[in-house]
Amino acid sequence: MTDHDTGTADRDAFFVDGRWHAPATTESTEVLEAATGAVLGRAALASTPDVDSAVAAARTALDGPWGRMTGAERAAVMRRLAAVLTSRARETAALVSRENGMPRSLSIGANGFAPPLMLDYYAGLAEGLDDEDLRSGMLARVSVRRGPVGVVAAVTPWNYPQALAAMKIAPALAAGCTVVLKPAPETALDAYAWADAAAEAGLPAGVLNILPGGREAGAHLVAHPVVDKVAFTGSTAAGRAIGETCGRLLRPVTLELGGKSAALLAEDADLNAFLAALPEVSLANNGQTCHACTRILAPRGRYDEIVDAVTDTVRALPVGDPLDKATRIGPLVSAAQRDRVLGLVGAGRAAGARLTTGGGVPAGRDRGWFVEPTVVAGVDNDSLLAREEIFGPVLCVLPYDDEDDAVRIANDSEYGLGGTVWTTDPGRGAAIADRIRSGTVGVNHYALDVLGPFGGVKASGLGRELGPEGLAAYVALKSVYLPPESR
Ligand code: NAD
Repeated sequence: MTDHDTGTADRDAFFVDGRWHAPATTESTEVLEAATGAVLGRAALASTPDVDSAVAAARTALDGPWGRMTGAERAAVMRRLAAVLTSRARETAALVSRENGMPRSLSIGANGFAPPLMLDYYAGLAEGLDDEDLRSGMLARVSVRRGPVGVVAAVTPWNYPQALAAMKIAPALAAGCTVVLKPAPETALDAYAWADAAAEAGLPAGVLNILPGGREAGAHLVAHPVVDKVAFTGSTAAGRAIGETCGRLLRPVTLELGGKSAALLAEDADLNAFLAALPEVSLANNGQTCHACTRILAPRGRYDEIVDAVTDTVRALPVGDPLDKATRIGPLVSAAQRDRVLGLVGAGRAAGARLTTGGGVPAGRDRGWFVEPTVVAGVDNDSLLAREEIFGPVLCVLPYDDEDDAVRIANDSEYGLGGTVWTTDPGRGAAIADRIRSGTVGVNHYALDVLGPFGGVKASGLGRELGPEGLAAYVALKSVYLPPESR
């Protein structure tokens, strides 16, 4: 039996209040295999009454035993959940690869082992949340209490569905919040890994509720009067709409949105080191990565050399089935996403962009949603392909004159999420990184680490996930002013 034969069962119920909840309507979606277009399974989609039930369950759980547990007790539950997710990590990772085309080698970490790792990390922080924090103030003794923000609406996209859910669920549970997770329809099936694990780990009813749904269900959830905090990852357009809603409601919101990050190659960059890292840094998940460095900034004197080397590297990347170990570039998530990417490349070409490799559908890959890895030269930073978040395997190589010019180009983007600097002088690399207006920058690599706060500036979003800062977003601070100690 191959991985393709393991067929996933349809999912016709939501996980609400610790039970399988029958949908209020018959609305559903077919989840398709990105590499073949075959139906992987059918999943129910939530409508507004389903969202209402999930939010009510989350509220009851918050006001019930979960809200009264100590941080250490919550940590024990989180570790049980992590253990169950770990036991199924490879299976879950493979399912995501089939849904969204992510090469399995990446999915095993991102969708398999990262979620339990995050649960374990935040379980450790949960244990410290109840520590006494008593401050001798000028007018009072101030006892600082750390409670949960409340019911969390978590809305996630299809590109790293498990990791992005974990970045919200793990700190939320650690803080004592309860969660309603609305995953994207494209990856509705893998979301049930959380539901199955929650049931097996004995998570108290209503602490984690899962219901895949479309935009309307998401909008209803985000604006629901009983929700206390919103955590969203996805497109900048949806993020703006959600931010507007939360602004009107004065509701705390974390937004992880799009990007168009730069890989800045200094004159002294080790080109081979960059080329070796290029698949991860610039084309991870077939380009369906918000922090991908899709603009490669090359010193003008080395421009042709760098265009040629990047072209050779990209052309040689094995394109294929994401479940195949050798594959570096898999298909895109959907026909719509493939058509959008090909449309943007076509528009860029019509406007004068020179494609040095790629630009079409790879030979023999007309089943599934494949796009050839593509390199664009002869454009400047004002061009369509250098400005739009393409979300596919398309890289632009842009020339710069000197370091100031390179930093100016790197910063000349509506986004500011990732970035890398390549130089043989790490001190210089860190100094250039400081000048880049972005939430995260790597020097000679890019490693999104659970300890490092992750998020963007400008149109890349608001707030941070991961690290202790990621927990702070779910913690409600309260100062209790105790009377001064009697003398
Ligand atoms: P999207 O932002 O529309 O959807 C992401 C999630 O938000 C899904 O669960 C969706 O159902 C939900 N959603 C959409 N609109 C909503 C709203 N108004 N209120 C509440 N929930 C809402 O992303 P998409 O349509 O899947 O992809 C479109 C483009 O977004 C891509 O081409 C890509 O450029 C970008 N994108 C970025 C990321 C990222 O991580 N930054 C992830 C996915 C997509």
